[in-house]
Amino acid sequence: MSSSLLTRMDIAPAEPELEGILRRALAGEELSVTEGERLLQAEGEELGALVRAADEVRRRRVGEIVTYIINRNINFSNICVGNCKFCAFRRSPSDPDAYVLTLEQIMAKVREAVRFGATEVCVQGGLHPGFGLENYLDILRTIRKISSNIHIHAFSPAELDHIAKQEGLPIEEVIKTLHDAGLNSVPGTAAEILVDRVRDIICSKKISTSRWVEIIKTCHRLGLPTTATMLYGTVETPHERAQHLALIREIQHETWGFTEFVPLAFMPYNTPLWTDGERSPPSIVENLRVHAVARLMLAEYIDNIQTSWVKLGSLGTQLMLCAGANDLSGTLLEENITRAAGGKLQAMLPRELEELILELRRIPRQRTTTYELI
Ligand code: SF4
Repeated sequence: MSSSLLTRMDIAPAEPELEGILRRALAGEELSVTEGERLLQAEGEELGALVRAADEVRRRRVGEIVTYIINRNINFSNICVGNCKFCAFRRSPSDPDAYVLTLEQIMAKVREAVRFGATEVCVQGGLHPGFGLENYLDILRTIRKISSNIHIHAFSPAELDHIAKQEGLPIEEVIKTLHDAGLNSVPGTAAEILVDRVRDIICSKKISTSRWVEIIKTCHRLGLPTTATMLYGTVETPHERAQHLALIREIQHETWGFTEFVPLAFMPYNTPLWTDGERSPPSIVENLRVHAVARLMLAEYIDNIQTSWVKLGSLGTQLMLCAGANDLSGTLLEENITRAAGGKLQAMLPRELEELILELRRIPRQRTTTYELI
């Protein structure tokens, strides 16, 4: 550990066990699930020590640059056969506000994104019962008609599995076909918590942990990078959060196909979990713990820890940037999924993102999907 940068004074208030774990993290050692679990329960002075350790590891790994991307979300349909209890976005086909975007509408959105200077479109939708491979290919071809070089970051592992089931095709063939049609990378969403006990409660119809891992590894093997996400704040325990982080680390150790890790705070409003009983979004303390422990457990494996302004707001985002995060995600232009669950912010201009970063005396830089600086 660099004792000149993080002195005994900085982490001394922590009790000896926690202090020992932080010292191991600062020495570049890999933390176990049990150690991650302990850190995920840090409180008071311990939390301060955890945050300082994560900030120090962030500084060593990626320096003072904070990145963001200019991108647009396109959620092509909210019709979904899923039953995820944390989701306020899905609709049944008969719901009055169910929608499917036409290819012309998608074209118009891509045109607007290109005019705005976006380098990426992020395309995801519900698991539409009538959608097969051809519908997904149509979306890719439509985007490619407008731009041959915009990065298409699209179709979660749950969507890829849905296509494979609809068509009766092996997952590898589905991914290859989409890749050949212009897909550039895959969002590592639908991960939620990669522990089946949790999935059985919050998303019983969704792909299992092992299927998510299989699809992600197949993407990586076929040359498609993905992100990795974690939805926290529903019914999982600190141990299960740490298990999730360890599994992401294990996959990365094998494939090196993850570009970033994205902790996603559960937004409860209008979701079945919320209407089942009173629930609040994770507290700021929870958010700090998750971002900081992600930085420490994934150190040496995933350099980019993203924080979501859509979920945490401007101040929350700045706090996470001081607790291990180094990326602000994108401008988005339009955000539908978190908004459905009570999120207030829908879009940020590049200038606004840069101001957030500059206020912390860090260095804003625009990036591509795969983290080349622009
Ligand atoms: S999270 Fe996705 S798969 Fe689950 S219900 Fe919502 S739209 Fe459907």
